[in-house]
Amino acid sequence: MAKKGNRLVVLLECEKCKARNYSTVINRVNQREKKLKVKKHCKQCKSHTMHNMVKI
Ligand SMILES: [Zn+2]
Repeated sequence: MAKKGNRLVVLLECEKCKARNYSTVINRVNQREKKLKVKKHCKQCKSHTMHNMVKI
C-alpha cells in the first residue's frame, strides 16, 4: 500500500513576471533535493520562460 503524504502539490512560477501558470504534483521522496526548474510557456510573457517550483 502506498503511503500518504509523499505527494506534494507545487506551483510553477514564471521567473520573469512571477505569474503562477501551472500546478503539478511532485513526489517528495524522489525530489527532495534542490528546487526544480522547468521551461514552460508563459501567457503573460508570451514566450517560453523558466518556471520555478513554489510550494503552496
Ligand atoms: Zn512570465
